[in-house]
Amino acid sequence: MNFRARLRLFFVLLVIVPMIALAIVLFTLTARSETGKADAGISAGTRTAFSIYEESAAAAGPALHKVASDPQLTAALASGSGIRQRMEQLVGGPLGIVAIQLRTSDGGRLIARAGSTRGMASKAAPLVAGAEMPGTLIVSLTDARDFAARVRKLTGYQLGVFRNGRLLAATVEGLGPRSRLGERGEPHAFQLAGDEFRGRVEPLHEPGGSALEMAVFRNTAALSDRIAHSRLLIGGLLLAFLALAVVSAVIVSRALTQQIDTFLVAARRLARGDFRQPVPVEGHDEFAQLGREFNSMSGQLASKIEEVQRQRGELTEAIRRVGDALAMGLDRDGVVALAVRTAVDACEAEAGRAQPVDEDAFRESVWGTDDEDLHEAMKAAERRAAGVRVVGPKRAQPNGDLEPPRPRRVATPASLGAAHALSVPMLGLTGSPDAEYLGVLSIARRRRSFSREEEELLQYLAGQAVVSIENATLHETVERQAVTDELTGLANLRAFHTILEREIERSRRFSTPLALVMLDLDHFKQVNDEYGHQQGDEVLSLVADVLRDFSRDIDAPARYGGEELAVILPQTDSEGAEQLAERIREAVERLEVPVVDGKGSLRLQASFGVAALPESAVTREGLIAAADAALYRAKRAGRNRVERAEPVPTAG
Ligand code: GH3
Ligand code: MG
Ligand code: MG
Repeated sequence: MNFRARLRLFFVLLVIVPMIALAIVLFTLTARSETGKADAGISAGTRTAFSIYEESAAAAGPALHKVASDPQLTAALASGSGIRQRMEQLVGGPLGIVAIQLRTSDGGRLIARAGSTRGMASKAAPLVAGAEMPGTLIVSLTDARDFAARVRKLTGYQLGVFRNGRLLAATVEGLGPRSRLGERGEPHAFQLAGDEFRGRVEPLHEPGGSALEMAVFRNTAALSDRIAHSRLLIGGLLLAFLALAVVSAVIVSRALTQQIDTFLVAARRLARGDFRQPVPVEGHDEFAQLGREFNSMSGQLASKIEEVQRQRGELTEAIRRVGDALAMGLDRDGVVALAVRTAVDACEAEAGRAQPVDEDAFRESVWGTDDEDLHEAMKAAERRAAGVRVVGPKRAQPNGDLEPPRPRRVATPASLGAAHALSVPMLGLTGSPDAEYLGVLSIARRRRSFSREEEELLQYLAGQAVVSIENATLHETVERQAVTDELTGLANLRAFHTILEREIERSRRFSTPLALVMLDLDHFKQVNDEYGHQQGDEVLSLVADVLRDFSRDIDAPARYGGEELAVILPQTDSEGAEQLAERIREAVERLEVPVVDGKGSLRLQASFGVAALPESAVTREGLIAAADAALYRAKRAGRNRVERAEPVPTAG
């Protein structure tokens, strides 16, 4: 059974049960009230009957007097004969006498009777003194039939008159002996010839010892009809009421279930993840409150989901950034910028920056708003961070040993008004006493200071940035070492070839000349032999400096091997190269190299070979061979000179 059906059943039961009880009570009350009314009528009829009876009895008084003083009757009584005749003559006369009885003076035994046997409402008087026979004279002016008819006429009730239990007169047929009518007194129901009657039996006090009773009653068919009618009316009313209750139950249950349906539909919408449509809320009842709660719950869910989606977006962004960091690999500035951005985003800061101690460490990086206050707060925090010592002092343990230094909390917060900042030093080899200070990483925002978790996060990011910077530095060193000659700081042979190849390519593409100068120190063996290998190294290093001094930014001086050096000269033809070589030769000649172990200085000379693209060669090997050949010629021609390579006939 669904909710609506149960709700209706509940309503109907709530109405039906009390209504059945009410019907029973009303039906009983109706019957009682109708019976009560009927009984009241019967009692009133009975009183009227009594009045008529009293009246009739009172009227019998004068007649009795006349009869008692009747001379003929007195004479007959005195003589003892003709009594009955005289009584007969008196009955039906002008006095209206219906019956005359003469009884013994104790009233019991009947001596003589004249007139109707149905006489009633009688009056009695003793016979006058001096009469032959002592006795009681009873006179009646009322015939029981007339009495009954009169009462019937006046009251509308049926009447039965009984004497000594036998029917004397009745207004209806078939009224049997008195015994069929029940007890005297209270009104009650009885049956006559299959019909229902209701009435009461009352005694009438007659002189002469006869027990007279009257029954006032009526047929109760009309009463039953009235009761039935009343019950019908009540039943109809109750049924109408029930119908009304059912209709109300349907309306109320529909209204309730409609509300519930609304919530059901809204809940289904929520389950589908649709939060845009709120539940319509009207009024202030519990449903309205439920609706409001529902809407607020849906709002909270929506914002939670939004938050989750935002966080997912941030996570995606973070993953992308980690990817960027991986791709960036050894780009220290990129990594620092990434650390700043991530710190600002992850700690919900408004601004952030990384400040290097010097330009070599990394490039300054700033992210977020350029709000003055925030940057001032960061400056304050940075000043404090710069003073941070990474580890605490060593402390003596109970056994006398020195406890290893403990790392200290290194994040330093600072607040300027509403602006809160947090800085952490960026320290290489964190934890060791000789940690290298690379810079400071800071973030700032308004209103909220930073939590312990945010401090830890910033420290972590600074640590990661430092690891990247150190990796980059290491990589740069290795990379530099791979292309640099350690002694002279010039490009090594491998780098020489690489650069030469690249420049040849460029020269071909843009049709620009390219020259190569090669030089070899004259009699260098002697320097080694006379002053030692270390002196030889010193000489090489100084000659390298000369080469560097004479090189433009685009030129590439290199150590070709041993004491043989070279300079690659892009956008330079052989003539320009020859001039440069000559200037270098002179500079070398002018060099005064201090002697390493002793006093004084030594002088140097060098021989030069110059070749150029495209006039001297077309390939790298060709260019080197041409320059080398020119150098060889310079040596053979007496050293300390510059020789230009022969032009290649096919070239140009
Ligand atoms: P020449 O005028 O014909 O060039 O005479 P030279 O003595 O310079 O003869 P050569 O060029 O054949 O001699 C090369 C010498 O340079 C051999 C080696 O002892 C020396 N040498 C090569 N590389 C180094 C170096 O790195 N350091 C030192 N100290 N000497 C080197
Ligand atoms: Mg040599
Ligand atoms: Mg030499």
